[in-house]
Amino acid sequence: MKYKAVRGMRDLLPEDTGLWALVEGVIKNNLQRFGYREIRIPLLETTELFARSVGTDTDLVGKEMYSFNDHSDESLTLRPEGTAGCARAAIERNLLQQPVRLWYQGPMFRYERPQKGRYRQFEQIGVEAFGWHGPDIDVEILEMGWRIWQALGLTDKVKLELNTLGSADVRKRYRDSLTAYFSEHLATLDEHSKRRLKTNPLRILDSKAPAIKELCEQAPRLIDALDDPSASHFAVIGDELDALGIPFEVNPRLVRGLDYYSHTVFEWTTDALGAQNAICSGGRYDSLVELLGGRPTPAIGLAFGIDRVVLLAADHVDNIATANAAQQIDFYVLPLTDAEHTAAIQLAANLRIAMSNAHILCHAGSGKVKVRMKAADRSGAGHALLLGADEVANGIVTLKFLRDDSAQEQVPIANIADRLSMIWHQSKTG
Ligand code: AMP
Repeated sequence: MKYKAVRGMRDLLPEDTGLWALVEGVIKNNLQRFGYREIRIPLLETTELFARSVGTDTDLVGKEMYSFNDHSDESLTLRPEGTAGCARAAIERNLLQQPVRLWYQGPMFRYERPQKGRYRQFEQIGVEAFGWHGPDIDVEILEMGWRIWQALGLTDKVKLELNTLGSADVRKRYRDSLTAYFSEHLATLDEHSKRRLKTNPLRILDSKAPAIKELCEQAPRLIDALDDPSASHFAVIGDELDALGIPFEVNPRLVRGLDYYSHTVFEWTTDALGAQNAICSGGRYDSLVELLGGRPTPAIGLAFGIDRVVLLAADHVDNIATANAAQQIDFYVLPLTDAEHTAAIQLAANLRIAMSNAHILCHAGSGKVKVRMKAADRSGAGHALLLGADEVANGIVTLKFLRDDSAQEQVPIANIADRLSMIWHQSKTG
């Protein structure tokens, strides 16, 4: 019997994790620089939380959740997204007394059909800002996204699509006009869209079916039906993005899949990944906190799909090189026989203290010198520190250059840290 990973759930191997860490590091660093603070929330929440917040007539809740009853027969769900849990935590733990900026990271679970860029377990880094009504925070969050693409060198690969869903009133009126429009074209609608016509006609605009997409082109546009406050909220965002030099496109068809959005919605998309083109999505959700039993609190958030950002970043040689460098072994401490093992671990321990940034590996495993040398070479280290009986007796280390023809050196143990620091700094500064 051979065990396999569950469909749609991936192992990230050591050769992958360097780039992942780099991408995650850049994103987190920028979030912290904008004053967002980390919150860690559970992977499991009650099923009811998602049903209530995301909405039972969404695909996410209707078809894609990993739900099960636990031993006390409570229905729990592996979180399909982070906003609901974050809002739940903020209410439950009383974080909403004043405005608060939060971020979180972790896996999300959705039972979708796996393909490139779409997985059943995928990673998000998400941001939620609770307590601000005005467009200033919307702009802040959009700018933060842009700064992150800049830091990753991806600005020419991404596009910001922006739309507004207006206030609840606007949406209600719009919903009616949309229902009237689609009702006139029932023959063109597929079964799925007919169902949506009853439950949430806005979501028909999300449809990927060509005939329906065409129909949607002629449908009334929400952006034309905005009330003054919604229109001016949206206008400020556009003006300030212009002032910051951040390019965007208004996409009146962008409605986003979830029920809880209002006003600003946006998506960073890319042409480089095929069908799964959204790499970061978000929007304002002013009614969610109240819906979950908190006192009315405006909110806006976004989530980066890290799997997709990594796919995009992988095309950049610079990123890969830097990522690999982070996992590169610098020095390999090599006892020539088991008799020098104690001396070797002592040397490695001292070097790790003396050179806190260097990556130092100490040989593990018995075997002949040849086998040990092979392991040193395979580690990718630039240098090996050989310790045989003679070296230990004389208080020296043989420094062997593994990647060029330089002659090996006999270095007194007292000087080895200095010698290696010199080599290390030279290698890092080129
Ligand atoms: P959402 O929570 O649906 O707004 O998604 C936020 C981001 O997560 C999207 O922009 C995608 O980049 C990413 N994402 C959503 N679903 C998946 C999935 N099944 N696999 C990989 N990434 C995903």
